[in-house]
Amino acid sequence: MALRFFNTLTRKKEVFRPIKPGHAGMYNCGPTVYDFAHIGNFRAYVFADLLRRYLLYKGFRVRQVMNITDVDDKTIKGSRKEGIALKEYTKRYEKAFFEDLDRLNIQRAEIYPRATEHIKEMVTLVRTLLNKGIAYNGNDGIYYDISKFRDYGRFAGLDLKGLKAGARVKQDSYDKERANDFALWKFWDKEDGDVFWETEIGKGRPGWHIECSAMSMKYLGKTFDIHTGGVDLIFPHHQNEIAQSEGATGKRFVRYWLHNEHLLVNGKKMSKSLGNFHTLRDLLERGYDPMAIRYLLLSAHYRQKLDLTFKSLDAAGSSVQKLKEFTGRMKKGKDNENSRKLVKKARKGFEEAMDNDLDMPKALAVLFDFVRDINKTGGGREVFDFMLDIDRVLGLGLGEAEEWKTEKEAEPKLRKMLREREKFRKEKNWKEADRIRDMLGKQGIVLEDTERGVMWKKAKRS
Ligand code: AMP
Ligand code: ZN
Repeated sequence: MALRFFNTLTRKKEVFRPIKPGHAGMYNCGPTVYDFAHIGNFRAYVFADLLRRYLLYKGFRVRQVMNITDVDDKTIKGSRKEGIALKEYTKRYEKAFFEDLDRLNIQRAEIYPRATEHIKEMVTLVRTLLNKGIAYNGNDGIYYDISKFRDYGRFAGLDLKGLKAGARVKQDSYDKERANDFALWKFWDKEDGDVFWETEIGKGRPGWHIECSAMSMKYLGKTFDIHTGGVDLIFPHHQNEIAQSEGATGKRFVRYWLHNEHLLVNGKKMSKSLGNFHTLRDLLERGYDPMAIRYLLLSAHYRQKLDLTFKSLDAAGSSVQKLKEFTGRMKKGKDNENSRKLVKKARKGFEEAMDNDLDMPKALAVLFDFVRDINKTGGGREVFDFMLDIDRVLGLGLGEAEEWKTEKEAEPKLRKMLREREKFRKEKNWKEADRIRDMLGKQGIVLEDTERGVMWKKAKRS
């Protein structure tokens, strides 16, 4: 069956037909490096990674571009508050971002363009919009005249006919009630400190939206295949990207828009502003395996909201362990006629589910049915190879050798602590037991309580 995606542009599932057969160009809105990314942000990046991996699995050649927003309202504010140069400030969070990508086993994109290194392209784009009479000079910046773009708002399902002409919004983020002419270029003011570029369109800095239009088209062309981001970016960010790019080129900007739903905490979007967030670092310190986090983020359909709880993280951890343990066992097993049939059936089921707009819950259900069936009849190298092949998409490290050790295998100091914790657990003194778990977590030791007693291992990728 053909690969289909739900396209936000048409609100329909469509067969994926890339511009150049066999090639897929994709742009993902990347991080604003003003702070550590939270797990909600990583839902967006794990989704982009899944898309990338499945395209590769299907045999496409992928060119993936993810921007690094290293100049905007938030980064400037942060660096000014600390009294350090913008670059020094953003470098810190950029580095942390790449470390986190590695921990979550997210494959690297082909290109990570930084906004500060593409000012020239942004200025050219703004110039084009000025020349075409779509942009105009305001007193504090250059603005996009949204009345010049036919159907502005339609991408987000908004009817903006009643808007007051010429009303402006300078901030990068705003909601649909404030849908108005938006800033492409912001003239320098004293809040910007030493962050500015002297250019032919004036001394200042770019707005956030123009960054993505300029960088995506530079690396992928005026029209490209896929653009992703979280649903919160549909408006205004992606609407503005469309207006800027199509206004300038007169060509269709993106063919397939894919948006991931939010990660929630107690029913609310995980976000910095609500303060209900966990960074990857927080969760690793609590002793969670990064692959459990990856699994949890992957396991829901990307267009469904997903609530994060510690219970769901624990369950995700067990699922990963189960798949790993199964895969490891198959290495030494023996194939048989039945297992061969089951592999064929599972591959077909997995691909059908993934072809249907990356239906991960269905794909995983196929996989767990397969595990159950093989456990009854046995399997060997072919099953092992199949699991590794599927893992090119899942990225859970299923082929890695099991590293969990028993208490007996621990060196004396660790063994003493494990025994102590066991004693507290028997007394149902969870507080003390957790204190020891946390302490070990900080030393990079992860624990898991199993029927065979406590198992431990050194945390990977940390
Ligand atoms: P930001 O740094 O806020 O621009 O966000 C980076 C990416 O993370 C964007 O694609 C957002 O849509 C996405 N994002 C932010 N919060 C969440 C969340 N709670 N769940 C899923 N994606 C999110
Ligand atoms: Zn963007």
